[in-house]
Amino acid sequence: MMLQGKVAIVTGAAQGIGRAIAEALARDGADVAVVDLDVARAQETAQAVSSQGRRALVIKANVAEWADVAAMADRVLAELGRIDILVNNAGITRDGLLLRMKEEDWNAVLDVNLKGTFHCTKAVLPAMTKQRSGALVNIASVVGVMGNAGQANYAASKAAVIGLTKTVAREYASRGITVNAVAPGFIGTAMTDKLSGEVRAALLTQIPLGRLGTPDDVAAAVRFLVSPAAAYITGHVLHVNGGMIMV
Ligand code: NAP
Repeated sequence: MMLQGKVAIVTGAAQGIGRAIAEALARDGADVAVVDLDVARAQETAQAVSSQGRRALVIKANVAEWADVAAMADRVLAELGRIDILVNNAGITRDGLLLRMKEEDWNAVLDVNLKGTFHCTKAVLPAMTKQRSGALVNIASVVGVMGNAGQANYAASKAAVIGLTKTVAREYASRGITVNAVAPGFIGTAMTDKLSGEVRAALLTQIPLGRLGTPDDVAAAVRFLVSPAAAYITGHVLHVNGGMIMV
Protein backbone atom coordinates (compact mmCIF):
# COMPACT_ATOMS: atom_id res chain seq x y z
CA MET A 1 0.00 0.00 0.00
CA MET A 2 2.77 2.42 -0.96
CA LEU A 3 0.29 5.04 -2.22
CA GLN A 4 -2.03 5.01 0.79
CA GLY A 5 -3.49 8.49 1.40
CA LYS A 6 -2.43 9.75 -2.06
CA VAL A 7 -4.77 11.09 -4.71
CA ALA A 8 -4.11 10.32 -8.39
CA ILE A 9 -5.64 11.76 -11.55
CA VAL A 10 -5.55 9.48 -14.61
CA THR A 11 -6.77 10.94 -17.92
CA GLY A 12 -8.24 8.72 -20.60
CA ALA A 13 -8.90 6.17 -17.87
CA ALA A 14 -12.17 4.77 -19.25
CA GLN A 15 -10.40 1.95 -21.08
CA GLY A 16 -7.11 0.51 -22.28
CA ILE A 17 -3.85 1.64 -20.74
CA GLY A 18 -5.50 4.38 -18.64
CA ARG A 19 -7.86 1.90 -17.00
CA ALA A 20 -4.99 -0.46 -16.17
CA ILE A 21 -3.05 2.46 -14.63
CA ALA A 22 -6.05 3.59 -12.54
CA GLU A 23 -6.54 0.05 -11.24
CA ALA A 24 -2.83 -0.44 -10.48
CA LEU A 25 -2.61 2.82 -8.52
CA ALA A 26 -5.76 1.91 -6.57
CA ARG A 27 -4.24 -1.48 -5.71
CA ASP A 28 -1.28 0.44 -4.24
CA GLY A 29 -3.70 2.45 -2.08
CA ALA A 30 -4.36 5.64 -4.08
CA ASP A 31 -7.75 7.30 -4.49
CA VAL A 32 -8.29 7.92 -8.20
CA ALA A 33 -9.99 10.59 -10.30
CA VAL A 34 -11.02 8.82 -13.50
CA VAL A 35 -11.04 11.47 -16.23
CA ASP A 36 -12.41 10.75 -19.69
CA LEU A 37 -14.87 11.84 -22.38
CA ASP A 38 -16.71 8.52 -22.04
CA VAL A 39 -18.52 8.65 -18.68
CA ALA A 40 -20.27 5.29 -18.99
CA ARG A 41 -17.02 3.38 -19.44
CA ALA A 42 -15.26 5.58 -16.90
CA GLN A 43 -17.83 4.36 -14.36
CA GLU A 44 -16.58 0.79 -14.94
CA THR A 45 -13.03 1.89 -14.13
CA ALA A 46 -14.36 3.71 -11.06
CA GLN A 47 -16.08 0.54 -9.91
CA ALA A 48 -12.81 -1.38 -10.20
CA VAL A 49 -11.10 1.34 -8.11
CA SER A 50 -13.88 1.26 -5.48
CA SER A 51 -13.67 -2.52 -5.28
CA GLN A 52 -10.09 -2.03 -3.98
CA GLY A 53 -11.59 0.01 -1.13
CA ARG A 54 -10.37 3.32 -2.60
CA ARG A 55 -12.33 6.46 -3.40
CA ALA A 56 -13.07 6.97 -7.11
CA LEU A 57 -14.32 10.13 -8.77
CA VAL A 58 -15.50 10.11 -12.38
CA ILE A 59 -15.02 13.41 -14.18
CA LYS A 60 -16.07 14.06 -17.75
CA ALA A 61 -13.49 16.39 -19.27
CA ASN A 62 -11.97 17.03 -22.66
CA VAL A 63 -8.27 17.50 -21.92
CA ALA A 64 -7.93 19.68 -25.02
CA GLU A 65 -10.20 22.30 -23.38
CA TRP A 66 -8.62 24.42 -20.65
CA ALA A 67 -11.99 25.24 -19.02
CA ASP A 68 -12.79 21.51 -18.64
CA VAL A 69 -9.36 20.77 -17.21
CA ALA A 70 -9.36 23.67 -14.73
CA ALA A 71 -12.81 22.63 -13.48
CA MET A 72 -11.60 19.01 -13.25
CA ALA A 73 -8.65 19.94 -11.00
CA ASP A 74 -10.90 22.12 -8.81
CA ARG A 75 -13.32 19.21 -8.36
CA VAL A 76 -10.55 16.77 -7.43
CA LEU A 77 -9.27 19.20 -4.79
CA ALA A 78 -12.81 19.86 -3.48
CA GLU A 79 -13.89 16.21 -3.36
CA LEU A 80 -10.68 14.23 -2.80
CA GLY A 81 -8.75 16.93 -0.90
CA ARG A 82 -5.36 16.94 -2.65
CA ILE A 83 -3.50 15.96 -5.84
CA ASP A 84 -0.35 13.86 -5.55
CA ILE A 85 -0.14 12.10 -8.91
CA LEU A 86 -1.09 13.03 -12.47
CA VAL A 87 -0.89 10.52 -15.29
CA ASN A 88 -1.36 12.23 -18.66
CA ASN A 89 -2.61 9.24 -20.62
CA ALA A 90 -5.47 10.53 -22.83
CA GLY A 91 -4.38 10.26 -26.43
CA ILE A 92 -5.72 9.77 -29.95
CA THR A 93 -4.50 8.89 -33.44
CA ARG A 94 -5.66 10.27 -36.82
CA ASP A 95 -3.27 8.45 -39.16
CA GLY A 96 -2.45 9.26 -42.77
CA LEU A 97 0.52 9.92 -44.98
CA LEU A 98 1.74 13.50 -44.69
CA LEU A 99 0.58 14.81 -48.07
CA ARG A 100 -2.91 13.48 -47.42
CA MET A 101 -3.06 14.56 -43.80
CA LYS A 102 -5.75 17.14 -43.23
CA GLU A 103 -5.06 20.13 -41.04
CA GLU A 104 -7.97 19.08 -38.81
CA ASP A 105 -6.31 15.69 -38.22
CA TRP A 106 -3.04 17.40 -37.36
CA ASN A 107 -4.79 19.79 -34.97
CA ALA A 108 -6.97 17.13 -33.31
CA VAL A 109 -3.97 14.95 -32.41
CA LEU A 110 -1.79 17.83 -31.22
CA ASP A 111 -4.71 19.31 -29.24
CA VAL A 112 -5.37 16.13 -27.26
CA ASN A 113 -1.92 14.56 -26.96
CA LEU A 114 0.21 17.66 -26.47
CA LYS A 115 -2.02 20.55 -25.45
CA GLY A 116 -4.03 18.20 -23.21
CA THR A 117 -0.83 17.24 -21.38
CA PHE A 118 0.10 20.92 -21.04
CA HIS A 119 -3.36 21.80 -19.68
CA CYS A 120 -3.49 19.02 -17.09
CA THR A 121 0.08 19.71 -15.96
CA LYS A 122 -0.66 23.41 -15.54
CA ALA A 123 -3.84 22.63 -13.61
CA VAL A 124 -2.20 20.42 -10.96
CA LEU A 125 1.12 22.21 -10.42
CA PRO A 126 -0.21 24.93 -8.06
CA ALA A 127 -1.51 22.30 -5.58
CA MET A 128 1.65 20.19 -5.88
CA THR A 129 3.87 23.24 -5.47
CA LYS A 130 2.00 24.23 -2.30
CA GLN A 131 2.45 20.76 -0.79
CA ARG A 132 6.03 20.57 -2.15
CA SER A 133 5.55 17.08 -3.55
CA GLY A 134 4.05 15.40 -6.58
CA ALA A 135 4.67 12.88 -9.34
CA LEU A 136 3.71 13.37 -12.98
CA VAL A 137 3.91 10.70 -15.64
CA ASN A 138 3.26 11.50 -19.28
CA ILE A 139 2.43 8.66 -21.65
CA ALA A 140 4.56 9.19 -24.77
CA SER A 141 5.22 6.49 -27.40
CA VAL A 142 8.01 4.60 -29.11
CA VAL A 143 6.78 6.40 -32.23
CA GLY A 144 7.81 9.76 -30.72
CA VAL A 145 11.38 8.51 -30.64
CA MET A 146 11.69 6.44 -33.83
CA GLY A 147 9.02 8.02 -36.09
CA ASN A 148 6.43 6.00 -38.00
CA ALA A 149 5.24 6.36 -41.59
CA GLY A 150 1.61 7.51 -41.55
CA GLN A 151 1.77 9.07 -38.10
CA ALA A 152 3.43 12.48 -38.56
CA ASN A 153 0.91 14.18 -36.27
CA TYR A 154 1.05 11.47 -33.61
CA ALA A 155 4.86 11.11 -33.67
CA ALA A 156 5.30 14.90 -33.47
CA SER A 157 2.89 15.09 -30.52
CA LYS A 158 4.66 12.31 -28.62
CA ALA A 159 8.17 13.67 -29.30
CA ALA A 160 6.91 17.02 -28.01
CA VAL A 161 5.52 15.35 -24.89
CA ILE A 162 9.04 14.08 -24.18
CA GLY A 163 10.47 17.62 -24.52
CA LEU A 164 7.70 18.94 -22.27
CA THR A 165 8.42 16.22 -19.70
CA LYS A 166 12.12 17.11 -19.47
CA THR A 167 11.40 20.85 -19.25
CA VAL A 168 8.78 20.59 -16.50
CA ALA A 169 11.08 18.16 -14.66
CA ARG A 170 13.77 20.87 -14.62
CA GLU A 171 11.35 23.67 -13.68
CA TYR A 172 9.76 21.84 -10.73
CA ALA A 173 12.53 19.63 -9.30
CA SER A 174 13.26 22.21 -6.60
CA ARG A 175 9.64 21.89 -5.39
CA GLY A 176 9.92 18.14 -4.83
CA ILE A 177 7.94 17.29 -7.97
CA THR A 178 9.15 14.57 -10.34
CA VAL A 179 8.13 14.46 -14.00
CA ASN A 180 8.79 11.41 -16.14
CA ALA A 181 7.51 9.81 -19.32
CA VAL A 182 6.66 6.23 -20.20
CA ALA A 183 7.07 5.41 -23.89
CA PRO A 184 5.07 2.29 -24.71
CA GLY A 185 5.75 0.26 -27.84
CA PHE A 186 2.74 -1.44 -29.40
CA ILE A 187 0.19 -2.38 -26.76
CA GLY A 188 -2.98 -4.42 -27.25
CA THR A 189 -5.83 -1.87 -26.85
CA ALA A 190 -8.65 -0.32 -28.90
CA MET A 191 -6.00 1.95 -30.46
CA THR A 192 -4.04 -0.99 -31.92
CA ASP A 193 -7.14 -3.12 -32.67
CA LYS A 194 -7.44 -0.85 -35.73
CA LEU A 195 -4.22 -2.34 -37.20
CA SER A 196 -4.63 -4.88 -40.02
CA GLY A 197 -3.40 -8.46 -39.53
CA GLU A 198 -0.64 -7.74 -42.04
CA VAL A 199 0.65 -4.66 -40.16
CA ARG A 200 0.43 -6.56 -36.87
CA ALA A 201 2.47 -9.49 -38.26
CA ALA A 202 5.11 -7.09 -39.62
CA LEU A 203 5.28 -5.36 -36.25
CA LEU A 204 5.84 -8.59 -34.38
CA THR A 205 8.99 -9.25 -36.41
CA GLN A 206 10.41 -6.01 -34.93
CA ILE A 207 9.72 -6.91 -31.31
CA PRO A 208 12.44 -9.09 -29.76
CA LEU A 209 10.11 -10.24 -26.97
CA GLY A 210 7.77 -11.51 -29.70
CA ARG A 211 4.42 -10.11 -28.54
CA LEU A 212 2.47 -6.88 -28.24
CA GLY A 213 2.58 -5.38 -24.77
CA THR A 214 -0.40 -5.39 -22.44
CA PRO A 215 -1.91 -2.39 -20.61
CA ASP A 216 -0.62 -3.99 -17.39
CA ASP A 217 2.96 -3.88 -18.75
CA VAL A 218 2.62 -0.09 -19.07
CA ALA A 219 0.81 0.31 -15.74
CA ALA A 220 3.69 -1.46 -13.97
CA ALA A 221 6.14 1.18 -15.24
CA VAL A 222 3.85 4.05 -14.17
CA ARG A 223 3.35 2.43 -10.78
CA PHE A 224 7.11 2.40 -10.29
CA LEU A 225 7.65 6.01 -11.40
CA VAL A 226 5.04 7.38 -8.95
CA SER A 227 6.28 5.23 -6.06
CA PRO A 228 8.74 6.25 -3.34
CA ALA A 229 11.24 3.87 -5.01
CA ALA A 230 11.54 6.36 -7.89
CA ALA A 231 12.00 9.46 -5.70
CA TYR A 232 15.41 10.24 -7.29
CA ILE A 233 14.27 9.78 -10.91
CA THR A 234 13.07 12.79 -12.90
CA GLY A 235 13.10 13.81 -16.56
CA HIS A 236 13.44 10.16 -17.55
CA VAL A 237 11.80 8.33 -20.46
CA LEU A 238 11.07 4.73 -19.52
CA HIS A 239 10.67 2.53 -22.61
CA VAL A 240 8.17 -0.33 -22.38
CA ASN A 241 8.39 -1.83 -25.85
CA GLY A 242 9.54 -5.45 -25.74
CA GLY A 243 12.97 -4.40 -27.01
CA MET A 244 11.62 -2.78 -30.19
CA ILE A 245 14.08 0.08 -29.78
CA MET A 246 16.95 0.08 -27.33
CA VAL A 247 18.02 3.60 -26.35
P1 NAP B 1 -7.52 4.02 -26.03
O1 NAP B 1 -7.84 2.59 -25.73
O2 NAP B 1 -8.01 4.64 -27.29
O3 NAP B 1 -7.99 4.90 -24.77
C1 NAP B 1 -7.79 6.28 -24.75
C2 NAP B 1 -8.82 6.89 -23.82
O4 NAP B 1 -8.60 8.31 -23.84
C3 NAP B 1 -10.26 6.66 -24.30
O5 NAP B 1 -11.09 6.29 -23.20
C4 NAP B 1 -10.65 8.00 -24.86
O6 NAP B 1 -12.04 8.28 -24.75
C5 NAP B 1 -9.86 8.95 -23.99
N1 NAP B 1 -9.72 10.24 -24.61
C6 NAP B 1 -9.48 10.50 -25.93
N2 NAP B 1 -9.48 11.82 -26.15
C7 NAP B 1 -9.70 12.41 -24.95
C8 NAP B 1 -9.84 13.77 -24.55
N3 NAP B 1 -9.73 14.77 -25.42
N4 NAP B 1 -10.08 14.02 -23.23
C9 NAP B 1 -10.22 13.03 -22.35
N5 NAP B 1 -10.12 11.72 -22.68
C10 NAP B 1 -9.87 11.42 -23.97
O7 NAP B 1 -5.95 4.27 -26.04
P2 NAP B 1 -4.75 3.44 -25.35
O8 NAP B 1 -4.21 2.51 -26.36
O9 NAP B 1 -5.15 2.94 -24.01
O10 NAP B 1 -3.68 4.63 -25.22
C11 NAP B 1 -3.50 5.36 -24.01
C12 NAP B 1 -2.26 6.24 -24.19
O11 NAP B 1 -1.14 5.42 -24.50
C13 NAP B 1 -2.37 7.26 -25.31
O12 NAP B 1 -1.72 8.46 -24.95
C14 NAP B 1 -1.61 6.59 -26.45
O13 NAP B 1 -1.12 7.53 -27.37
C15 NAP B 1 -0.52 5.90 -25.68
N6 NAP B 1 0.10 4.79 -26.39
C16 NAP B 1 -0.62 3.72 -26.78
C17 NAP B 1 0.01 2.68 -27.46
C18 NAP B 1 -0.72 1.46 -27.93
O14 NAP B 1 -0.09 0.66 -28.64
N7 NAP B 1 -1.98 1.26 -27.57
C19 NAP B 1 1.39 2.76 -27.74
C20 NAP B 1 2.09 3.87 -27.32
C21 NAP B 1 1.44 4.88 -26.64
P3 NAP B 1 -13.01 8.00 -26.04
O15 NAP B 1 -12.93 6.53 -26.29
O16 NAP B 1 -14.34 8.50 -25.58
O17 NAP B 1 -12.41 8.83 -27.15
